[in-house]
Amino acid sequence: MSFSSLGLSEQLVRATTDQGYETPSPIQAQAIPAVLSGRDVMAAAQTGTGKTAGFTLPLLQRLGENPRTGKGPRALILTPTRELAAQVHDSVNLYSKYVPTKAAVVFGGVKINPQMMKLRKGLDVLVATPGRLMDLYQQNAVRFNEVEILVLDEADRMLDMGFIRDIRKILSLLPAKRQNLLFSATFSNEIRTLAEGLLDNPVQVEVAARNTSADNIKQSVYPVDQSQKTALLSKLVRDNSWDQVLVFTRTKHGANRLTQKLEKDGITAAAIHGNKSQGARTRALADFKAGEVRVLVATDIAARGLDIKQLPQVVNFELPNVPEDYVHRIGRTGRAGESGHALSLVSADEGKMLAGIERLIKKQLPRTEVEGFEPTNNLPLKPKAKADPSRARARNGNGGNGRPGGKPRSFGDKPGGRSGGRSQNGGGQRGRSAQRQSA
Ligand code: AMP
Repeated sequence: MSFSSLGLSEQLVRATTDQGYETPSPIQAQAIPAVLSGRDVMAAAQTGTGKTAGFTLPLLQRLGENPRTGKGPRALILTPTRELAAQVHDSVNLYSKYVPTKAAVVFGGVKINPQMMKLRKGLDVLVATPGRLMDLYQQNAVRFNEVEILVLDEADRMLDMGFIRDIRKILSLLPAKRQNLLFSATFSNEIRTLAEGLLDNPVQVEVAARNTSADNIKQSVYPVDQSQKTALLSKLVRDNSWDQVLVFTRTKHGANRLTQKLEKDGITAAAIHGNKSQGARTRALADFKAGEVRVLVATDIAARGLDIKQLPQVVNFELPNVPEDYVHRIGRTGRAGESGHALSLVSADEGKMLAGIERLIKKQLPRTEVEGFEPTNNLPLKPKAKADPSRARARNGNGGNGRPGGKPRSFGDKPGGRSGGRSQNGGGQRGRSAQRQSA
C-alpha cells in the first residue's frame, strides 16, 4: 500500500517520502481515507503509531480544496501538553512543505503577545493547548467562526489533566457544521461520553495497543532496594555506555532529586516535568536530542507525546501507579520497527504494581539481579511457575544499542510487529478508569 493509493495529493505524498516513510502505518491506512471522506473519526491510537500524520495529511488535503477567505484558523488541533503541541506543529510544518497552508502553535508558559501577533497575521491550522487557547479567546485574539475541522489529540490525557471544562467551552464556540476527529489511547466512560456529544456517526479506527507485546522491545525487571536504585542506575548507564536514556520517575520531586544525584555522579542529566518553565523543558529536550545530556528524567505526563526518534533505552526508575502508563513508557523505545530495551528497577514495595502491569501485558517479565545490588527484600518479585532466572547477572549487550541510521523508515509488516491486527492486550487497554497523578 502507498500513500498515494489512499487518495493523498502528490505534494503531500512527496512530503512523506522526504521523511523516509515507505508505507502508511495501520492507523494511517484507516484514518486517512476516513478523514478525506469528510466523516467524523474516533480513533484509538497511541503515540508512536503514526497518528499525527494520520490526521494531519488528510486535514491538509481537505483544507487545500478551498482557499482561506478570512484569518482562520480553519483547523484546530487541541493537545494536552506544550511539548505535544510543539511536536504536532512541527509535523504539520513538515507535511505541509509543498502546500501553501499556514500553521501556528500556541501554548501556556510562554509570552502571549507573540502568539497574538501570529494569530493576527492569519493562518489555516492552529495547534493549541486548551488553557492558552481560552486565554487568547478571552482577549479577542482568536475567533472560531471559520473552523472547519477540529482534532482532539490524546483526548484521554486532556481529560486526565482536567481540561474538560475548557474543551467543552471551546466546543460550544465552534461552528456547528464541522468535521470532528477524536484520537485517544484509551476509551474510558468519560471519553465515550465526550465522543457521543461530539461526533456524528463516526468512522471508528482502531489499531493494536502500541508495543504491548511487540517483539522489538526487550523488557526486563531488575529487583533492587529503593535505596540502591540511583547507584544501580549510574552503574548501568556507565557499564552499558548508554548515551541516550529516558528515565521515568513517579513524581516531579523524584525527577529533580534523581537528576541532581546523577549529575553528582558525573552523568549529564536533565529533568522534564510540569513544574519546569517552558524554556527549561524545551532546552532539556533539545540538549537530550543533541546528545549533550545522556539521561532525561521525566514524569509520565511530561513525557507523553515526546517524539524522540530511535530511543534505544527506557528505564523505569519507579513503576507507574497506573499499569497503562507502563505501556506508554516503554512505547518510547523501539519506535517504528527499531529494537529497544525497557528496563524497570523494582523494589519490594512495588510488587503489587508489577503484578498489575504483568496482568495487563499478559506476560511475566524476566528478573535480573545485578551483583552487589541484590535486594534484601525481594518478596513478591519472583515468578511463581517458571524457572527462576533472577540469579543471572546483568548482561551488557542488551540489544538496545548500536542501531542503524534509520532511513527509510517503515512501520514494518513483520509478524509480531506493529503493523498487524490487534495485540493480545489491545482490549485490556480500553475502558479502564485510570487514576493518574499530575506531572
Ligand atoms: P506519532 O504516533 O504521530 O507520534 O508518530 C510516531 C513516529 O513515527 C514519528 O517519529 C513519525 O515521524 C513516524 N512515522 C509516522 N508515519 C510513519 C510512516 N508511515 N512510516 C514510518 N515512520 C512514520
